[in-house]
Amino acid sequence: MTAAGPILTVHRSTHQIGGNCIELAFDGHRLLLDAGEPLDTDESSPSERLIPSTLDTAGDIDALIISHPHQDHWGLVTQLPPHWPVWRGQGAGILMDMTARVRRQRIPGPLHTFRSGVPFTVGPFTITPYLTDHSAFDAHMLLVDCGGKRLLYSGDFRRTGRKRVLVDRMMAKPPKNVDVLLIEGTTLGREGTVRTEEELQSELETLFKTTEGRVFVSWSAQNIDRTVSLYKACKGARRAFVLDVYTLDVLERLSALGYRLPRLGLPGVRPVVTSGMIRLYGDPARMDCPSFVERCATTNGALGAAGLEKLRKSVVMLRPSLLRDFLAKGIVFDKHDAWVFSMWKGYLDKPDYQEVRKVFEAAGATVHEEKYHTSGHASGADLEEFARRMSPRYLVPVHGEAWDQHLGRFGNVLRLNDGEAFEIV
Ligand SMILES: [Zn+2]
Ligand SMILES: [Zn+2]
Repeated sequence: MTAAGPILTVHRSTHQIGGNCIELAFDGHRLLLDAGEPLDTDESSPSERLIPSTLDTAGDIDALIISHPHQDHWGLVTQLPPHWPVWRGQGAGILMDMTARVRRQRIPGPLHTFRSGVPFTVGPFTITPYLTDHSAFDAHMLLVDCGGKRLLYSGDFRRTGRKRVLVDRMMAKPPKNVDVLLIEGTTLGREGTVRTEEELQSELETLFKTTEGRVFVSWSAQNIDRTVSLYKACKGARRAFVLDVYTLDVLERLSALGYRLPRLGLPGVRPVVTSGMIRLYGDPARMDCPSFVERCATTNGALGAAGLEKLRKSVVMLRPSLLRDFLAKGIVFDKHDAWVFSMWKGYLDKPDYQEVRKVFEAAGATVHEEKYHTSGHASGADLEEFARRMSPRYLVPVHGEAWDQHLGRFGNVLRLNDGEAFEIV
């Protein structure tokens, strides 16, 4: 007997942040929304364990739709059947490909590209992606129509980034008759004021103006909002913005799609070419693009790691691997320098960032661990307001650790467990 309505199964993320894997089944067809790696993945654990036990990988699916290019939303793709069709935004596709290459992987499967606001149909499912505001570039909410029912998946979002107007617009004119809203809840239980990217930019500019030596900053090269904040703060403080080959490559590939971003060749942007990057780009199993290193090295203002010794008025991208390259070239840090960690504080506990912290502390440099970051996720108040505006028949919590202590703030909650099927009727 066929079910009357589509069947929703959240295979993973009802009680954790990330590792999202959501299935909608109808009339013998299946659609997946995201296939993420859990954030707490232990690199030594067998990879099969990352596929949720309730997800049937023997059968076919009509499509896997990736909401945005964070690995807790797409990282499983490389382990799923290679013939499963994968849909993602154009910018997201570029970033996913780059991340996979760094990890000596390639994204398998027939690849398809969707565009924000343009509905597309696979089997009985019609999907409309809506570009949204998040710390990942090219992030989307996904509206799915199927069997006369309507599901809206928020993906990850916020109202404090450079694209917040997109969320405001959706709230001003919400999709009608939403049966199910799958909504993230990352910040629940971590309340506090969430600053805007622009506020953060002005605080960074002040820091750059008041620091005597160099400012080394650790942030995700794929967090484009943050790169823009740093670039503008550098301009305001008249500092050189020193970027490694990988960060420049990210900006170059996205700029090629027509986005106006800081990039190679712009005034104030200085490429630093290090030995680790020469290896990464020369490796056929990884980036396989030595010509881009050559372009960076021959662009005006290019320098090698040793050049940082004299470039005091600078803001420099710093990942643990870059630090190793800098130290190998004899770069010495001192008490006039500063190190800024501008990512989610959970990453700071990883051994390689502990190592970075030790190096700067030993040099007497100023260490800023939490001050210069703002969340990629909506505050609790924004989540409540968004949910109210969408006014769904059922609100299904995902991507959060503290939902159970905060359910009373939301209406029409349907609390599912991982792997529990729910028929939407
Ligand atoms: Zn996420
Ligand atoms: Zn995300």
